[in-house]
Amino acid sequence: MQDLRINEQRLWDTLMEMGEIGGTEKGGCNRLAGTDLDKQARDLFVSWCQAAGCDISIDKIGNIFARRPGKNNDLPAVGTGSHLDTQPTGGKFDGVFGVLSGVEVLRILHENNIETPTPMEFSVWTNEEGSRFQPAMQGSGTYVGRFDLEAELNKTDVNGIRLGDELERIGYLGDMELGSRNMGAFFEAHIEQGPILEDEKKAIGVVRLGQGIRWYNIEVIGRPSHSGTTPMHLRKDAMLASSLIVAEMQAIANRHENGLGTVGFMQVWPNSRNTIPGNVKFSADLRNPVPEVLLTMHEELVAFCEKVASDQDLEVKVDHFWYFAPVEFNASDDVKAATEKLGYSHMDIYAGAGHDACYMADLVPTGMIFTPCLNGISHNEAEYSSPAECAAGANVLLHTMLEASERIAKEHQ
Ligand SMILES: [Zn+2]
Repeated sequence: MQDLRINEQRLWDTLMEMGEIGGTEKGGCNRLAGTDLDKQARDLFVSWCQAAGCDISIDKIGNIFARRPGKNNDLPAVGTGSHLDTQPTGGKFDGVFGVLSGVEVLRILHENNIETPTPMEFSVWTNEEGSRFQPAMQGSGTYVGRFDLEAELNKTDVNGIRLGDELERIGYLGDMELGSRNMGAFFEAHIEQGPILEDEKKAIGVVRLGQGIRWYNIEVIGRPSHSGTTPMHLRKDAMLASSLIVAEMQAIANRHENGLGTVGFMQVWPNSRNTIPGNVKFSADLRNPVPEVLLTMHEELVAFCEKVASDQDLEVKVDHFWYFAPVEFNASDDVKAATEKLGYSHMDIYAGAGHDACYMADLVPTGMIFTPCLNGISHNEAEYSSPAECAAGANVLLHTMLEASERIAKEHQ
């Protein structure tokens, strides 16, 4: 068992075969959730898992679970999984690498007739990307009870098409109850999507934390008036006030270690060259791995917006509509132990993006395995991870799952 390794070439071929579904000219993937291409990718995953002896279940938000029995099938399973949907200009690895590393683990167990102490589960989560339907991590978030099922099934894309209808149309609206899988641990392998492992020349990132996120809709209400006849001191310029806040977002991020601040969306009204903007709406995104620091960043943003409102004599509304608390990955020691056993270089790291594992951590001890990706590029058709880098991540997943299965069996003796 200690010498067991995944098949690097087969894992690579599997990644490339999946990448053809929705493959783009520039070598990336466009496979949005709930589309015909999503169906093709799901069907392929299901056929691969069935060929390796799994039973398939689909839950009420379309998440797929492939179960491989173990020695004692009353014990909680060790789970792994990620997503097969991509961004419109996505790559072949984001999410897909995690799902197909699971398939490779499954195949290795199957062809070596290995009976694990507990069952093993291989999953695909619906709409992780949040591109066609919002929010991101919709399938896993609904599974763990963060979101209301009916509300999520009723979400529509830009053409008004319901997620629930699309899942039904492609044959993946199941009847299994949410949150009902008997799992004792969950692991997700994923490309880092950032430059740290590559810079530090490490093969594996042992993910300790998922960073916290605070999202805001900010609206500045000033007064539209003529740009040629309104003296500067009489203006209520919503654009000027917004610009001050945008600049402060950067300042807040820079004042705090590991702080990030972004304004990525803005609507200006009336958006006319010779009218002082009367109303500006924009997004704000603050991130930090430490909850107390993220709270301080939040308080600084709110205080600054109040100051701008009074200095500029206009109104600033701050709608803080989403808080994602930093996630601790309690099973990351299993990942570290497997990495060290296999002799891969590694470092502790935190996840900058959201992942399905962040929500699964609500229910079970969870761990994430990061692998390097070229130049840290992701959500881009140029996304790339080498066959050897993928193989290292899948080997760590294999041995992490084996160790966790043994541990769970011992705990239940
Ligand atoms: Zn992903």
